[in-house]
Amino acid sequence: MSHESTKFDLVSLLQELDESLNDYEKGFPLEDFAKGDYQQHPFVTLLTCCDSRVSANMLGVPFNRVFCVENIGNQVNNSSGSVLYGLLHLNTPLMIVAGHSDCGAIKAATSDFTAEPAPLINELTTVKSSLDLGCSGLKADSVSQAQLSELNVDVQVDLLLSNPDIAPRIENSSLQIIGVVVDLHNIYGGGYGKVYTVNVNGEKDAEAIKKITTIGGFAAKAKRLS
Ligand SMILES: [Zn+2]
Repeated sequence: MSHESTKFDLVSLLQELDESLNDYEKGFPLEDFAKGDYQQHPFVTLLTCCDSRVSANMLGVPFNRVFCVENIGNQVNNSSGSVLYGLLHLNTPLMIVAGHSDCGAIKAATSDFTAEPAPLINELTTVKSSLDLGCSGLKADSVSQAQLSELNVDVQVDLLLSNPDIAPRIENSSLQIIGVVVDLHNIYGGGYGKVYTVNVNGEKDAEAIKKITTIGGFAAKAKRLS
């Protein structure tokens, strides 16, 4: 599970980061804070893989809009407290689970990871359990890596739907759960870096998702490999 490491000039990088930090400070909504509005008001809880190519800014400016929970392989059960905080305490009306093509966590979970450090084994074991659940009834060798990403997203959506605190919110339409796959590698054939809707509140049929009128542009993005 080793990765080739990229050589960075850390001293120059840290100098350049000054600009980013200054931009953040300049863009900070001081007027809102001066009025006493210190609270966060995110509209979406986003559970995404922490792969650096799958970024919260796919949903626009993340500041005070995206409550972002990231872990390897976008697993509810490895960050369930954080996800529930977004849904039950911040009451975001939208939950998005984002997987992606060529996910290193999925690759690792489908290979031998027993030599990894214990915390990594723990998280990968959760990923592996999700894949086992998602693949039940399918022949493992006939399922591609990208399909595994899709099935993994399905399992996360199902986990959320089966939570007794979350289910009523779906029933009374105060919450929508959308599963997407970010196709970094043009596996779906629509281009590199495209986002596809693969699951809406448990609905996995792309044609049915296309007909859902309450999910804006996510409907037209419905497409699945499996
Ligand atoms: Zn990943």
